Amino acid sequence: MEWKDMPRRAYYEKYERVDVKNDRGWYEVYRLPGNVYAFAEPRHFQEVNFFLILGSERAVLLDTGMGIVPVKPLIDELYQGEIIAVNSHFHFDHIGSNYIYEPVRSCTDEYVSAIAKRGLTREDVGAQMDEDMFKGGYPEGFQPDQFHVPAYKTEKVEDGYVFDLGDRRLRVLNTPGHCDDALMLYDEENKILFTGDTFYMGALYAHFNCAQFGTSDVRQYYKTMERLSREIPEDVSLYCSHNDFIAPASKLGETAEVLKAIIDEETVPAAEKGVNKGHQYLEEENALFEKKGDGFSVVYAVTK
Ligand SMILES: [Zn+2]
Repeated sequence: MEWKDMPRRAYYEKYERVDVKNDRGWYEVYRLPGNVYAFAEPRHFQEVNFFLILGSERAVLLDTGMGIVPVKPLIDELYQGEIIAVNSHFHFDHIGSNYIYEPVRSCTDEYVSAIAKRGLTREDVGAQMDEDMFKGGYPEGFQPDQFHVPAYKTEKVEDGYVFDLGDRRLRVLNTPGHCDDALMLYDEENKILFTGDTFYMGALYAHFNCAQFGTSDVRQYYKTMERLSREIPEDVSLYCSHNDFIAPASKLGETAEVLKAIIDEETVPAAEKGVNKGHQYLEEENALFEKKGDGFSVVYAVTK
């Protein structure tokens, strides 16, 4: 079955839906434990999530969505205070409305700076804007040929930086692996770790090597997940940027184990691993492989 014909995901039913006026038939808003709004875009193949993390003095907007439908009226409806925008990483599906909330804090590197400076064109996002990537067709008013991601300003934050929202603190963890600028926000007191794309319940990408997506690094990814599995207590909830909003902290260690297995098998000939063709980011110069965990997998590349 094609993605666009698949039924609505059952996991949404676990969460408290917020009734909003400015969803434009595109966004869905949920209130998650710990005073967090989750925004979902369930009608696009990416099934991306982003978060508004509320504090007594200000809020952090972690990522800005795909930018397919205007998000500002929706955010304005929910929160009228000061907003600090943060990017979990710079990939196209998380930066669509960055330009509205600049400067966007990130673990900026040369890849991020390049994209921030020029934005992304319709050509850059390619097949992602094809109609079969959309459930129920294109949203009203959306012009796929006109789609682009505007340039935006970034402000670099380092590992260990703390966003002080008044009654809550979010600590930046630079978590390279999926890409070098990947960051997580750790709310130790409320026992929440916002994982970006470094962990979610689905196919985790560890194969990128290009200007638009930066460089993935399986060994670095393993180090990151191994560190997290030691440092993050097991009663912490992972708030994820794709698919189901919340996953248990035990997944951090499980991901480390899958990555370790990939590293251990590096000497196995490619032909014996079996090429996986089920992924959307197939890069011609590489063969992509997938190693499964429990409810997630890691996609990685072997250079031919
Ligand atoms: Zn993503």
